[in-house]
Amino acid sequence: MSTSKWIFTAALLVSVSAAGQQPSDTQSSAPNAASTSAAQGTTARNTAPAPTPSALPQPTTMDQVVDRFIEREHGLMKALSTRTPVVETYLQNLTADPQLGPVPSEDHYFLGRMDMGETVDRKDYLKEQDKGMETRLMGGFNKLFKVQYQPLGFSWMVYADRTDFDREHYEFHYIRREFLGDIRCLVFDVMPKKNSGKGRFLGRVWVEDQDFNIVRLNGTYVPAPRNSFFFHMDSWRLNLIPGYWVPSYIYSEEGDFSAGVKNKLAFKAQTRIWGYDLKKEGKDDELTQIRVDSVKDESATAQDASPLQAEREWQQQAEDNVIERLTRAGLLAPEGDVDHILQTVVNNLEVTNNIDLPRPVRTRVLLTAPLETFSVGNTIVISRGLIDVLPDEASLAAVLSHELAHIVLGHNLGSKYAFNDRMLFSDDSTYSNLGFKHIPEEEAAADKKAIELLKNSPYAQKLDNVGLFLKALQARASQLNALLTTHLGNPLGENGTINRLSALSTQGPALDNAKLDQVAALPLGGRVKINPWDDKAEMVKTAPVAITSARDKMPFEVTPFYPRLVRWVTPNAAGTAPTTAANSQPSTN
Ligand SMILES: [Zn+2]
Repeated sequence: MSTSKWIFTAALLVSVSAAGQQPSDTQSSAPNAASTSAAQGTTARNTAPAPTPSALPQPTTMDQVVDRFIEREHGLMKALSTRTPVVETYLQNLTADPQLGPVPSEDHYFLGRMDMGETVDRKDYLKEQDKGMETRLMGGFNKLFKVQYQPLGFSWMVYADRTDFDREHYEFHYIRREFLGDIRCLVFDVMPKKNSGKGRFLGRVWVEDQDFNIVRLNGTYVPAPRNSFFFHMDSWRLNLIPGYWVPSYIYSEEGDFSAGVKNKLAFKAQTRIWGYDLKKEGKDDELTQIRVDSVKDESATAQDASPLQAEREWQQQAEDNVIERLTRAGLLAPEGDVDHILQTVVNNLEVTNNIDLPRPVRTRVLLTAPLETFSVGNTIVISRGLIDVLPDEASLAAVLSHELAHIVLGHNLGSKYAFNDRMLFSDDSTYSNLGFKHIPEEEAAADKKAIELLKNSPYAQKLDNVGLFLKALQARASQLNALLTTHLGNPLGENGTINRLSALSTQGPALDNAKLDQVAALPLGGRVKINPWDDKAEMVKTAPVAITSARDKMPFEVTPFYPRLVRWVTPNAAGTAPTTAANSQPSTN
């Protein structure tokens, strides 16, 4: 992890009272402890308040700061206790490559919903994991049988200590001040006291100097139970609602590639949390999930629908149902900024190919990491992970063109989803209830058509880059099985062979790691960021960083998180509040 971006303040022992002289206007509205179930589904601003941070006197000593952030930590646990966000962990095992350094040797993927109540538990969208109670509690993995990653383990560091974060169990030592992004922080080392029990947090916390919330935790848990151990983690929070910093990203890493090291276990993993504002599923909610408003009454014209019009209406209804259901399951971002970019690329393909469809083509971002595209009716869906790794617009056009081809060729006739009863399933069974895979003949036809579309498009001269991307993907395909495993659409490749747009895969120059100006594919996480509260997708704004060795390329790889921290801003009357979720549901309690 680079420390070069950290800005250290010169004075290490500045009195805290100076820091406390900036009461924030943004914090004057009551913060939100969604502490009753009736609060579910409302926006956070309307829910039951916890003590307003700015109403409390500012601490004047470091001891008082410690008391305050302990109190704020308990306030956060309470505020989030009714939330069930989506948790995704993508992990790459590492092996040493003489030229590229540590590279992925295999990968693992976990996706679930985390219940942030009393015992932070989770429900998995992917069911194959075997989770014994004992190993779950360890939060790490059990070495006795085999290396088995426990999905829950990666979500542990949403809090330092769920039950005993207090002075009886911990010692706190002030270290220094430090800026994280725009946020001035006080840094404390946290150590468990002797005999305070197993699995206690050991590490460092960064506390913002306005309301004294923890914004970052870095460390591990000690002591570990026998035959298992805890990961090292770096956990980041974002100020997405007034008064609270919400756990958003956790980076985990283990491994030592220096000479003579015996323990060859090495991995790095990104855990992302989103969907805080998603509706919690309750036992009584089953029947309220039918949305009658998807049956549209658009009888503006006095005419009856022709059989063809009826067919199109029916398909539209199926498409709307699926998009709405996927959004509600926390798998699709609401329509937003990224869609404008995707839409532009699709339009470029359409216009230059004189494609005129009876219904417009729409796009949406799948919030997950695996590299995946699919289409539902006239909506093209592309995963966050795939947008991240694509090196340029031509490559984006290539993956979108395959789905546009399905639409043009009339392959997307999945009208069974027009029946609302088919949308009645629990969020965590989404993958077993929805699927948009095409038969091999349609896949081949879509690839053929896609290449035709690309050759007529503004991207025709840049298809070498697409070829290069496909080569880079092929080079890593057998190590990245989990990243290539799709859950709703056709995979880009199977059994280690990339077959999507294979006619382009021989195009362009040979893949050459030593050529520093050849960037065939990007690391994960570099293009799209998700607002963990309302799931909105946004393009990341980064300044270009020069690649100085082949090790800097990191195609398809997991890297540490370094989000730019900023304070929550009160939206103006006309503006869109960060807490306004396009997908929030009216309360049904
Ligand atoms: Zn396809």
